[in-house]
Amino acid sequence: MKIKDIINSTKITFSFEFFPPKTGDGWEKLFQTISKLMPLAPSWVSVTYGAGGSTRDRTHELVIRIHKETNISVVPHLSCIGSSKDEIKKILETYIKNGIYNIFAIRGDQPPGQVLPPDSGDFKYASDLIYFIKKFSPDISVGAAGYAEGHPESADRLAEIRHLKEKVEAGADYIITQLFFDNRDFYDFCDRCELRDIKVPIIAGIMAINSIRGMHRMAELTGRIRIPAPLLRSVYRAESDEYVEKVGTHWATEQVRDLIENKVRGVHFYTLNTSKSSLQIYESLGVKNSDQLSK
Ligand code: FAD
Repeated sequence: MKIKDIINSTKITFSFEFFPPKTGDGWEKLFQTISKLMPLAPSWVSVTYGAGGSTRDRTHELVIRIHKETNISVVPHLSCIGSSKDEIKKILETYIKNGIYNIFAIRGDQPPGQVLPPDSGDFKYASDLIYFIKKFSPDISVGAAGYAEGHPESADRLAEIRHLKEKVEAGADYIITQLFFDNRDFYDFCDRCELRDIKVPIIAGIMAINSIRGMHRMAELTGRIRIPAPLLRSVYRAESDEYVEKVGTHWATEQVRDLIENKVRGVHFYTLNTSKSSLQIYESLGVKNSDQLSK
């Protein structure tokens, strides 16, 4: 089902993001995770695309396997940095051939340790990719990335919202935000979008911190995430990763509770390919599945 239609058919969506594992063992564990998350009745799941297309084949394989082996809608992420129009066209053709009419379209970042020449590839920004996808097939439902705390490259936050609007004008049906730990940043972002007449649904990206190492890696990857002092204090106070995980899950649960109370259109969980924190969040919210949460 197209994500646009899923969003329109329910009050709140709950989606889960996975990355394509590198090893056979990782694949097996991921499918165990997916089967544990299925009872939560996710609205859809998505699969990331490694920086600069580094996981291209694994992303395709995982997306198509989820599509064939489960009854859940799956969204492939697709980045355009360094890609030609021909390459993107071939990828879109493969998805359509397999009955997949959803794409989460991002520009992407330079692959680690590589610097692509500035004129490599046919696309400069995600809006170019979104425009290309919609022209290729208006039937594809497209999602775009937003940044509650601002994108690390943006010197000008006013211009950033203008560029976000360009993605919507190019055809994005919905926005999913980068993870954030203070809901006030998200609400302010939504207000600023509204002021610029961005009317598509904005879905909140939530990640539960599960280890100190993971927290540092996440900070490095996202570049601009503010971890509020009360959360950091509890993380540093925790005596082991087990307790860090409890702290992280508790914080994420309270964020989700508050988002639901404030009528968010959707929550997108960055799962890190594990099920534990998502299962605990639902349990702490007193429900067995997403349908109960969206009532
Ligand atoms: P863009 O929208 O192109 O923006 C990039 C920068 O350029 C911003 O600072 C923007 O303000 C600026 N800009 C945009 N248009 C213009 C213009 N016309 N003129 C001047 N400046 C402009 N990365 C991956 O590699 N794989 C993934 O699977 C992936 N999944 C993600 C999922 C989510 C929910 C999010 C929030 C991010 C994801 N990313 C992923 C990260 C993303 O690729 C990076 O954050 C990247 O740096 C920017 O991508 P974008 O699509 O937001 O780019």
